[in-house]
Amino acid sequence: MPIRTALVTGANRGLGFETARQLGHLGLRVVVTARDADRAEAAAERLRGQAISVVAHQLDVSSEESCARLAALGPIDVLVNNAAVMAESAENPLAAGLLSRSALDVAPNALLAAFETNTLGAYRVTQALAPGMRSLGYGRIVNVSSGLGQLQDMGGGYPAYRVSKAGLNALTRIFASELRSQGILVNAVCPGWVQTEMGGPQAQLTPEQGAETIVWAATLPDDGPTGGFFRNKQAIPW
Ligand code: NAP
Repeated sequence: MPIRTALVTGANRGLGFETARQLGHLGLRVVVTARDADRAEAAAERLRGQAISVVAHQLDVSSEESCARLAALGPIDVLVNNAAVMAESAENPLAAGLLSRSALDVAPNALLAAFETNTLGAYRVTQALAPGMRSLGYGRIVNVSSGLGQLQDMGGGYPAYRVSKAGLNALTRIFASELRSQGILVNAVCPGWVQTEMGGPQAQLTPEQGAETIVWAATLPDDGPTGGFFRNKQAIPW
């Protein structure tokens, strides 16, 4: 079996870093990407210390130019679209000053900011890498989504994040349908509530636990599912 190469977006910290670490320990070669080149290199260096085969690559998923440079990497077998922002967060300059997370208060620009990274980011990177997967006749694409994007369970609050993840879920179905016949499996995953900068320290799961279903979807066998939404490796409603 060939050694597979996995590219993870937003892999300098949180679930992205942990996903890269677990994939590396499974024997995949890992391309650790981050929007800041130094942070990408620092994350890669930590993984090299664990005897993982890794390269660092700068990638800002909100930049067309940055995504266009992905072609230089050559074919990639596995893509984990992990990078995301919680645009309602007061730390985000685009949403600065927002104290409430109600849809009655969150500025429309926060929805645009979330869509730019969380939805269009995955769209751009998938467009850049899917042709290489087609040439290989093999591909796994994992869109790291969230229960907050589930229509069945849609509630109030966090409108920017929720809408961006619902959009990502729609993209999952669209790409899965278009790529199914070419050996490329595309799925969305909710990692659960995880202790990261986004999830906060009070979250239920460690990054190790949160990354498990992402890694499972990234390493599915050829007869694995496509076009699904999963948590704890089980299908969940959209
Ligand atoms: P995190 O700790 O906040 O990490 C987010 C990552 O995304 C960081 O590496 C960040 O890079 C990167 N990023 C943001 N904008 C980017 C851009 N334009 N280009 C490239 N990278 C960018 O969050 P996390 O908890 O690990 O979240 C990972 C994924 O899990 C996200 O898709 C999130 O929506 C999803 N998720 C998380 C939870 C949870 O409870 N934690 C629950 C459900 C879903 P910088 O360091 O440069 O900011």
